[in-house]
Amino acid sequence: MMEHGVPGKVVCVGRNYADHIAELHNQRPQRPLLFIKPSTAVTQLPTVLIPAGQGECQHEVEIALLLGHTLRRADVASAMAAVSGYGLALDLTLRELQTQLKQQGQPWERAKAFDHSCALSSWIPATEIARDVPLTFELTINGQIRQQGSSVDMLFSMAELLSEISQHFTLQPGDVVLTGTPAGVGPLQAGDQLTLSMSQLQQQWQWQGQVAIDE
Ligand code: ZN
Repeated sequence: MMEHGVPGKVVCVGRNYADHIAELHNQRPQRPLLFIKPSTAVTQLPTVLIPAGQGECQHEVEIALLLGHTLRRADVASAMAAVSGYGLALDLTLRELQTQLKQQGQPWERAKAFDHSCALSSWIPATEIARDVPLTFELTINGQIRQQGSSVDMLFSMAELLSEISQHFTLQPGDVVLTGTPAGVGPLQAGDQLTLSMSQLQQQWQWQGQVAIDE
């Protein structure tokens, strides 16, 4: 696995799996729903820190892409060549606060971009991942499977997401793209033991996480 560099921004995609759109009673988007977490949101697994006293903090497990090259106004066919690593991320979400912000028509940053709201795994080099073979992934909490997903179920493919993102936000080396979460989101509690796994064909990669209160 690759070492972590200095993290850049994290560009995130909302509502990219039909089953998760249904569980939150959201509308299916016509184009990718994008938001950004700053570099101060990033922590490295096994560290998973949740804020105290701000309502439920939910897990969203997602395939994460590490940019190795600058990507600006890229087309779909060439976009994936800029990816240098694959991993998993937890897009931590203060769900009650996000619901309030949505109702008030306000931006989501307070609920999505707070300190330590993005726990990242280490990176699998892109050379070890086949682009045309499904990537499956799963989150287990205290031994119970909570979320399972596959890249084939994305509404917008990874290449389409990168191309679309790069029309609006230049992606730079060290930037990270999160590709959306499947159904099964739910609360995290201090002391939870997490296992994140990603698989392709006969290969599996696994990371651990331990949830603690962000003091
Ligand atoms: Zn998410």
